[in-house]
Amino acid sequence: MSKDKLTEYRSKRDTAASGEPAGRRGRGRGGDRFVVQRHDASTLHFDFRLEVDGVLVSWSVPKGPSLDPRDKRLAIRTEDHPIEYAEFEGRIAEGYGKGTVVVWDTGTYRNLTGVRRNTPAPMSQAVEDGHLTVWLDGEKLSGAFSMTRTGGGDKWLLVKKDDKGADRRAKPARTKPESVLSGHVNEDFE
Ligand code: MN
Repeated sequence: MSKDKLTEYRSKRDTAASGEPAGRRGRGRGGDRFVVQRHDASTLHFDFRLEVDGVLVSWSVPKGPSLDPRDKRLAIRTEDHPIEYAEFEGRIAEGYGKGTVVVWDTGTYRNLTGVRRNTPAPMSQAVEDGHLTVWLDGEKLSGAFSMTRTGGGDKWLLVKKDDKGADRRAKPARTKPESVLSGHVNEDFE
C-alpha cells in the first residue's frame, strides 16, 4: 500500500544520484510524526509533512508556517515522501529539488479534525476531503493548525489557530533558519 504511494516520489528523482532516501523501508513506526524542512532549491520554501498511513503527506509552503492566526499561508500539495525522509538533511546533489535541506522543525502531531465525542475523522479521510486540523508539538511550532484545500487543485491554506501556541510577533520562518536536529543552516551544506 505505502509502496504504491511512493511511485510519484520515485519517478521524480534518482535517489542514488541525489542522496535522498529511497523509501525502501516501507512502513514507518506507526507514529504521528510531523516535519518541516527548509529547502533552499531553485526557490526557497518549507516542506510541511505529516505522517499518515506509512508515508509523509507533503505540502510545499513558500513563505513557511506562521504562528500568527491572521496569516493564511499558501501550501501546495506535493507527492508523498517516505517516512525516513523526516530525518533527511544535507545536499540534494542532482535533479529534482536540487539544493539544500535542513530539518527546520519536527515532533509529533495529534489529529483534531472534526473531533466529535473524542473521535476524529481519520487523517487519510481528512486529506482526501481537503480539510484537517492538527495539534503540533514541535520546537518552533506548537498548538493547532488548520489546513484547507481551496478549489479543486493542489492549493491549500495553512493557518494557525488562536491558542497558546499562537504568536503575532514571532516570525520563526524568517528569524530561526537553523535545523532543530543539528543546528546547521542550509548554507552549511552548499
Ligand atoms: Mn521541497
